This record gives sequence, C-alpha cells and structure tokens, in this order.
Amino acid sequence: MIVGNDPILLTPGPLTTSSATRQAMLRDWGSWDAAFNRMTQTVCTDLLDVVHGGADYVCVPLQGSGTFSVEAAIGTLVPREGCVLVPNNGAYCARIVRILQRLRIAYVELALREDEPVTAAAIEDAFMRDPRITHVAQVHLETSAGLLNPLDEIAAVCLRHDKRLIVDAMSSFGALPIDLRLGGIDALISASGKCLEGVPGMGFVIVRRDLLASCEGRSPSLAMDLYDQYAYMQKSTQWRFTPPTHVVAALRVALDQFIAEGGQPARGARYVKNCHTLVSAMKALGFETFLRAEVQAPVIVTFHAPRDPMWRFGDFYAAVREAGFVLYPGKLTVVETFRVGCIGAVDSHEMFDAVAAIGRVLVEMGVKV
Ligand SMILES: *Cc1c(COP(=O)(O)O)cnc(C)c1O
Repeated sequence: MIVGNDPILLTPGPLTTSSATRQAMLRDWGSWDAAFNRMTQTVCTDLLDVVHGGADYVCVPLQGSGTFSVEAAIGTLVPREGCVLVPNNGAYCARIVRILQRLRIAYVELALREDEPVTAAAIEDAFMRDPRITHVAQVHLETSAGLLNPLDEIAAVCLRHDKRLIVDAMSSFGALPIDLRLGGIDALISASGKCLEGVPGMGFVIVRRDLLASCEGRSPSLAMDLYDQYAYMQKSTQWRFTPPTHVVAALRVALDQFIAEGGQPARGARYVKNCHTLVSAMKALGFETFLRAEVQAPVIVTFHAPRDPMWRFGDFYAAVREAGFVLYPGKLTVVETFRVGCIGAVDSHEMFDAVAAIGRVLVEMGVKV
C-alpha cells in the first residue's frame, strides 16, 4: 500500500498514514473559515456514527494528544466528591491513576497482571466492597501489551449498578466494535492518530449529552474544560482557542478513506489479517508473543526479547529502522519485550516484509531466537 522511501511506522501512533491523508495538510485554513468549521462538524458527526452515538451523545473535539482528552474527560465529568474505580493492567491505566491523583479525586485501583484482562465479576466485587465508587475509568485496549478488556461486559455491569463508565478507547476506536446503543458507556475517548489513521494532534470525547450538560463549571482546568469547549462550539461554530487546522483536515480525509474501506468492520478485518501475518511469520522465526491469542487485540503485538547474549534492543531497532521499518520498545514492567504495531495504512505485505527484515537483522547480529 505504501509508495516512497519513508520508513513504515509499525507503532501505535504516530503511525503510517496514506499519501491522501498527508496531502490534505498542504493548505492553510483560518479559524473563522466557515468551510473549516463545517469540516469540524462533519468530522464530529462521522466520529459519532463509528460507535452508533445517535442523538443521545455528542462529540467534543479537543486540541492535544490523547492524554489531554482523557484528563479533560475525567476533570469535566467526575465530581470532586466522586470515587473512580480503575482496573489496572498496564501503563495507560496507571496514567489514569496519575491523572486522578493530580485532580485530587478519590480512586480505587483494581490491580491486575499485564496479561490479565479485567472481568465483570471483579468489577462487581469492587462495587460490593467499596460503596464509595461512583465511576469506572476503563482502558478498552491496553496498548502497553496489546491486551483487550471485555468492554461490553464491563458496560453491562456498570449499567446494572448505576455507575458512570468512562472508557479510554484510544487504540480500539475504529478498529474494534463499540456500540453505544447497548448502554452503560457514559463517555468514550479516542484521538486522531490511532486506528482512524489520521495524524496526531487532536483527541475527542464522545459523551452522553445530558451528562455533559450537567457539568458546567466543574473542570478545574480552563483549557481542558469539555463543557466550555462544547458550549463555545455550539454557540459560535468555532473551536475555543486555536484549532489544529491541519490535523482536522487530515482526519477528514482519513475518515473518508475509513468509510470507503467499509468502516469499522473492514478496518478491523485488515488489522486482524495484519496481526495474523505478523504473529505467524514471527513465530516461524522463533519468537513468542507475550499474550495468549484469546486476549491479544489486533492492534499491537508484544514479543519476548530473545534470550541470546548477543541481543541488544538498541542495535536491533536501528538495523530494522535502516531496513525501512520502525518498531517500538516494550512498555512492560515484568519482562524484556518489544512491540510491533499492526495498524496504520499498511496491509499484510508490509507486515510480511517487516518480519523478513527482522529475520535478516537477527542473522547479521548473530542472535538466535
Ligand atoms: C495512545 C494512547 C493514549 C494517549 O497517549 P498519548 O501519548 O497522549 O497520545 C491513551 N490511552 C491509550 C490506551 C493509548 O493507546
């Protein structure tokens, strides 16, 4: 799918974008430009459609990387006297804990291993043990290992116990099915530069309309107040503060391609194929995945580093980069690993070529797997 000599990013954002998406950034827009503001509107409408948001939800875009939107959602939607349950199986869950600490919001951590999805039963237990809990902050796809958490079951248990559910769907949105019509999800966060295959620079929060309407004046942050961001955009059609114009334009074109490809089912199917190609070719080289296949999401795969004394991740990374592929270091606390993404404007040909390059580099390094 790729033309040109740029390296292929097999990383979970920034990632490899199509040339049409990059070309969308070759002109400038003013923030008062009606065409630009209409473009923002259509982007928000299409983002809502991806998860069947309907009239009960609104999409609030926000400048910055994905974390800005996570912090904005928590700061705007959780009352100061709330208490948030955080099932923790990786670095992005731990980041949510740090956000809660900074915001001085009470939380309960449900500690899990990095290869262990949370279960609805464990969440229900936590509700029983600690009646203070008002909210759950759930990472759908823990990108640090590539682990999938069972969102539908989590949403169902939150609905049953009347707890508000805020979902970090950063690396699953667009790739995995999420259906807001099933109920239980109050807010869902993602960003431009992950499975939608846009460029990084804006996040968005899809939130229940009536919930957002009740949050005026709550955010301790001016710039990250989602209520104000939405209210201003409704009133003026413009972004509050300078918009990431080129990022929005690239996301518009990326969404056009997403829709033309066949939406989430087709995008997800391409990533599944990428993931299978990657994993089977890496296994043929002798590598093992960190996760069991049942809990592996088709977005990023963590591999155990070879135990050979000649192994140096830094040298390996540089040589594979020289061959045209950018990999990702591991992000796990327990074992030495590295990661390979299967998302972006790539298909199984790139995955296959990447593994071929990895095989050649191992031979050059004298590393046995
Ligand atoms: C990418 C990602 C984020 C946001 O990280 P940024 O560095 O702010 O882009 C948050 N949560 C998950 C699960 C992610 O994959």
